[in-house]
Amino acid sequence: MPSEKPQDLDGAGAPTGIYDAPETEVVAAWRVSCDGSGPGLGHPRVWLSIPKDRGFVECGYCDKRFVHEDFADKG
Ligand SMILES: [Zn+2]
Repeated sequence: MPSEKPQDLDGAGAPTGIYDAPETEVVAAWRVSCDGSGPGLGHPRVWLSIPKDRGFVECGYCDKRFVHEDFADKG
């Protein structure tokens, strides 16, 4: 059952895990668009091409990283 207990705020307060890195999305296309749609963000839509030698591209507006699925499983 859901708990309404407030979050425990002692310590640094930063959630562990994904908080360190910008948002990452695994995509199936080599060309993706980003408009910053997300919590509190937003910017003009831009198109990004994923370089096939790197396998990922980062949005210049919101730093979101798009990883091609062919590279998603690699460390
Ligand atoms: Zn963006």
